[in-house]
Amino acid sequence: MAETLVSNTSASPISLAAAQETRSTCCYCGVGCGVIIEHKAGQITGVRGDPDHPANFGRLCTKGSTLHLTMTPDSLAVRALYPELRTSRDASGTNARTRTDWNTALDHAADKFAAVIREHGPDAVAFYISGQLLTEDYYVFNKLAKGLIGTNNVDTNSRLCMSSAVVGYKQTLGADSPPACYDDVKHTDCLFLAGSNTAFAHPILFRRIEDARAANPAMKMIVVDPRRTDTAEQADLHLALLPGTDIALYNAMLHVMLWEEWIKPDYIAAHTEGFDALKRTVRAYTPEMAAEICGLTKKEIETAAEWFATSKATMSMYCMGLNQSTHGTHNNAALINLHLATAQIGKPGAGPFSLTGQPNAMGGREVGGLSNLLSGHRDLTNADHRAEVARLWGIADVPEKPGLSAVELFDAMAAGTVKAVWISCTNPAQSMPDQNLVHKALQTCDFVVVQEAYRNTETARFADLLLPATSWGEKTGTVTNSERRISRVIQAVPAPGEARHDWDTAIDFARRLGQKIENANTATLFPYANEEEIWNEHRESTRGRDLDITGLSYAMLEQKGPQQWPFPQGAESGKVRLYEDGIYPTASGRAKFVAAEHKDTAEKADARYPIRMTTGRLRDQWHGMSRTGTVARLYAHEAEPMIHLNPVDLDKRGMKDGDLARVKSRRGEIIIKVLASESVRIGQAFLPMHWGGNAMSGAGANALTLKTFDPFSKQPELKHSAVQFEKYKPSKTETTEPKALVAMRRMSSESNALQLMEELREQIKEMPQASLTLAGRDTPVVILKALTEALTPEAERALDVALSLADDFECVSYRDVRRDIAKRARVVDNKLAAVRLTGEVKAASWLQDMMVNGGAATEARKWLLAPLAEPPAGNAARGKIICNCFDVSENEISAALRTGESLEQVQARTRCGTNCGSCVPELKRIAFRAGS
Ligand code: SF4
Repeated sequence: MAETLVSNTSASPISLAAAQETRSTCCYCGVGCGVIIEHKAGQITGVRGDPDHPANFGRLCTKGSTLHLTMTPDSLAVRALYPELRTSRDASGTNARTRTDWNTALDHAADKFAAVIREHGPDAVAFYISGQLLTEDYYVFNKLAKGLIGTNNVDTNSRLCMSSAVVGYKQTLGADSPPACYDDVKHTDCLFLAGSNTAFAHPILFRRIEDARAANPAMKMIVVDPRRTDTAEQADLHLALLPGTDIALYNAMLHVMLWEEWIKPDYIAAHTEGFDALKRTVRAYTPEMAAEICGLTKKEIETAAEWFATSKATMSMYCMGLNQSTHGTHNNAALINLHLATAQIGKPGAGPFSLTGQPNAMGGREVGGLSNLLSGHRDLTNADHRAEVARLWGIADVPEKPGLSAVELFDAMAAGTVKAVWISCTNPAQSMPDQNLVHKALQTCDFVVVQEAYRNTETARFADLLLPATSWGEKTGTVTNSERRISRVIQAVPAPGEARHDWDTAIDFARRLGQKIENANTATLFPYANEEEIWNEHRESTRGRDLDITGLSYAMLEQKGPQQWPFPQGAESGKVRLYEDGIYPTASGRAKFVAAEHKDTAEKADARYPIRMTTGRLRDQWHGMSRTGTVARLYAHEAEPMIHLNPVDLDKRGMKDGDLARVKSRRGEIIIKVLASESVRIGQAFLPMHWGGNAMSGAGANALTLKTFDPFSKQPELKHSAVQFEKYKPSKTETTEPKALVAMRRMSSESNALQLMEELREQIKEMPQASLTLAGRDTPVVILKALTEALTPEAERALDVALSLADDFECVSYRDVRRDIAKRARVVDNKLAAVRLTGEVKAASWLQDMMVNGGAATEARKWLLAPLAEPPAGNAARGKIICNCFDVSENEISAALRTGESLEQVQARTRCGTNCGSCVPELKRIAFRAGS
């Protein structure tokens, strides 16, 4: 219980004595939920949803509600705490570094960048930043590259996420401005979710959808997704289209709307242009033809068209499924066409609403944080826009040539034309497509600066210079969520070690670099004493633009709470929804239809690569797991790297659930466990995008994905690759079954667990197949799974030392030489402390549960000393945890339903699904399947 409750503001210093509460936002997804951070003595002690924040009204999902667990003193084990300079580099490109001071670090960085700029020109350096930075960070990096250095080589991981949505809006509505808002969910009569597993990726928004449907049972929900996700399970109509066929679907829906005269000719005539060309295009897209392309039925397409066009208000929400495509811009435009043709825009409950993946992708777009944009929604290709920005910044000009987009940047690094790169708050060695090429690029580039909160990311390994950055709870500035709502982010606790704010480091570097390259504007370009001065300059850059925020201030955001833009000077409030007057920010004031034709995915399935693999998110993990991967309980929902495949495809290859598969694309391969799942259609696969080289052998999920990108947005097709898979056999003995290894150790603290993971990560580098994860809640268990073929006697000894199973500890051991099976365990106070199973691992989950729960090891002792494989009868493992808040497993829920309990009774007894609600869709699915 807090001793004193005070609300921190930018003006109030952080107290190190009293318990305090500070309003901020969740740092994960673009829903942008408000949080209240509880802290005492400079330490975050808890987090809860902010009841006054309009994005979430007090709710948080599993990720948001465990944020404080990522900021315990234990988390310092993986934090970057001081600058580190490279001392050596091994053959794999991994750098050994030593601690240095900030002056040396930034002088060194400035020397290196200046030398490259002098010798090779400004376009030989680049910045790769992040949608997780705050708007102020973004603004400074943009000005540093475009204003000081004179290069437009500043791109961001939002290129992988939102750039097709940006261009889709601009091509049709004239500006990168989502017209709808969260409140529209409760006004809509037809919700069209496309390429978005909202239940997992934007859970708190999905809670609003559930509320709206409960209040209005007549509301229709259509879900367009190749997979039967938890979101699709809840739909009135699930269109399980083939990957990449969205344009054919939307064109066919428009064809039906035209035929049935469901379009709105008056609106089209008064507020749009280009409809005749679109009409000619969609003439060919009969429902029969589109059904063939999309793998749907004619009836499904007709029903979707009817519901969309004839409801009183139709709203679409869409995300990566549309964006991460080589025709992502046109996917967006074809959907927006439907809204314009039916006048489902500019009124409550209607409009095309792009959901941002990252917490501040929108803020980055506001300040022009892409290599083709400028501050205040301006374009580099527009001479007037360049002149406006140059005037605002007090410089002669802004370079005209667009910079390198993310994929182009890493290509240029690999080719040696970009020689110095600054990477901030993102992990391209995990998240970019075609990881083999990205790793080569990071090895080839002469000087790699990584500005990071975490020192153990896949990218940090390549850093010549690692600069420690502040993180959630420590940062200060602003963010903008999917619905154009700006929130103040206020620092709750001091930065750990010598970590600094990203904007502060960027300014310090800019001032040093400016002197070395003798830029006369250095002093005037970066005059800021604090983040508010940066934001005020950004605010001025929006004056008169579609996103004008000149009526806002830090003080107002702190006093009145988060506000939507536009909010020009003199306005009483921000604009809830846009284009209510039918006037669009185009030269003619009219929205534009874009006539787009169906195109196939960049890679087609063929005889060699017959499986269409899509990627996406898990419920409880975030991006590359640098943060969520430190919290043991967030592994409970999907415990280890797995590729989801249809049982029919497994059968065909003589495989079953839990087998290991070798999965190959034209770019790389991974060895990974398979999860049999009917949510995936035959001939398709689903691979969660989170698993990288820190969680498994090799480069992770993106070893398989491809970098081919959309010609307008330059967003790569991360969503789809053609792959093949087969049952894994060790290369040395092609005919033998691989023997498994499971090694687990129960740790006294999260800090020890994270350190052990680091140690094991080094040990598994050479193993062909291994995964490294956590389990448990308060007492974490580190779990290594691999194959015994990689376990040399030396490796086994090293593993036993790491697990505290070496000979100097008293251990229980069993070995069956004939069957090549070994069990070794250490029991302390009748509790399992560590286990290594080699050759036979059927009891691993049972033993893991015992370690997690700290249960008596009496049964385990007997089992460990006997030639038994299966756990003793009645000791099945708990299985997947569905409700993370109250630790309730799928097996427990299913067993209760089988005994006749209703879902409501199970919930009343176990409280599952009654806190954050993230598991509610899954609970409904389990109950539905159980016939309850
Ligand atoms: Fe964070 Fe969850 Fe809200 Fe997204 S929905 S902002 S992850 S609490």
